[in-house]
Amino acid sequence: MRRLRVGLLGVGVVGGSVARALTQKREQLNAAAGAELVLTRAVVRDPTKARDVPKNLLGTDAEALVRADDVDLVVELMGGEEPCRTLIDTALTHGKHVVTANKRVLAWHGDALFAKAAAKNVALRYEAAVCGGLPVIAPLADDLAANAIRELRGIINGTTNFIVTAMAAGGSYADTLAEAQRRGFAEADPTADVEGIDAADKLAILVRLAFGAAITPQKIFREGIAKLEARDIALGRELGYTLKLLGTARLAATGVEARVHPVFLPTSHPLARVDGALNAVQVVGDLCGPIMFSGQGAGGDATASAVLADIIHVARGALNTTRATRDLPILPMGETRTRCYFRIAVDDVPGVFAKITQVLADHAIGLASVLQREPPQAGSAEIVLLTYSAPESAHAAATADLEKLSCTRAVMARIRVDAPDEHRHA
Ligand code: NAP
Repeated sequence: MRRLRVGLLGVGVVGGSVARALTQKREQLNAAAGAELVLTRAVVRDPTKARDVPKNLLGTDAEALVRADDVDLVVELMGGEEPCRTLIDTALTHGKHVVTANKRVLAWHGDALFAKAAAKNVALRYEAAVCGGLPVIAPLADDLAANAIRELRGIINGTTNFIVTAMAAGGSYADTLAEAQRRGFAEADPTADVEGIDAADKLAILVRLAFGAAITPQKIFREGIAKLEARDIALGRELGYTLKLLGTARLAATGVEARVHPVFLPTSHPLARVDGALNAVQVVGDLCGPIMFSGQGAGGDATASAVLADIIHVARGALNTTRATRDLPILPMGETRTRCYFRIAVDDVPGVFAKITQVLADHAIGLASVLQREPPQAGSAEIVLLTYSAPESAHAAATADLEKLSCTRAVMARIRVDAPDEHRHA
């Protein structure tokens, strides 16, 4: 049987699960790979900690591992931009195959690294970098290769999905974030998750793959969940919508839309039912129509499932999961068309509604439905509006004009709605 010698960079949550499986599931994995998968080296920061790797294979010199003669395939599971980018680059330069779960490196440096892998005729596979255990990279690159992808949208960050799901049950943002931290779903510093930074990295990887667009995350419009109020989630539900933080990308006539922000989806949408820390991605192809992948986006064993599949694919000779890139611009957010939900606190005086509808009409925005709530305080009222689709630039300009109205106390919320114009509340 052929041998594929594996060097492991990092034996933490995911690397530990990979190392365990390589021992405990050896026969099954070798049979699937058609090769003997042999762990020859592993590096960590602290080699004195107990690990699922024989002591004689453990070291701390990552630079040596990516150049070592007894390594055919480098599995990078350390995380973070550097030194991982340099280590992956060096491994490819030395003709090693690479499997990584590192979304940061691929989102920001993918184009150069894929080019190097192609030039060296070695693998650079990254199934675990987007949605952990959920197979979405290989399906997009291989199984859906005959499709022109028209759009994709996904719950690609489990932490924020846990938070918005708990907020839908009535919790405040601060309380549900604290609960997520207690349960290990959120980091002590939750910025990358709650500001949509992690989701934008993953969306960049998906956009490059699905549409062949050269993209880095700074081109992606991004709005997080930190300003969300449970009240808007509850009001949205009354109108027939469920709130999710989505990464969305769509092929338009002149380029690709790519954005990460909170979205109201019709409660009947399959993504609206994906709750808690789960992940899901819906892809719409011209031939296959809508397809949805859902499951565990994180966790040692679930993520190891994706890493091990990549190792098996390399052993079988399948090198890269990419589509050819083409010259496709990323469209400015202002050109994106969505519907919007507004909650506006106003003075409880006659004529307010006419002034608000006039502002919308001035920006050519159609009004789909209106809720007027009991005043939360004497003398004030709360108006909830749902618009028909219009460019983001029109909705943004209307928001600014609504704020200037003398009867407006504050535009409390504006949340984009992903639903066709004909959608009506349940
Ligand atoms: P982790 O538990 O923090 O493990 C990181 C490992 O890398 C540790 O063994 C650490 O050594 C080692 N390491 C870090 N820097 C090093 C350096 N400079 N030199 C040598 N060793 C170093 O991380 P993880 O959760 O397994 O995540 C690994 C990767 O998978 C990341 O890219 C992450 O984004 C991705 N991922 C993780 C999940 C998940 O559920 N955890 C899901 C999807 C993707 P020590 O143990 O000695 O500190």
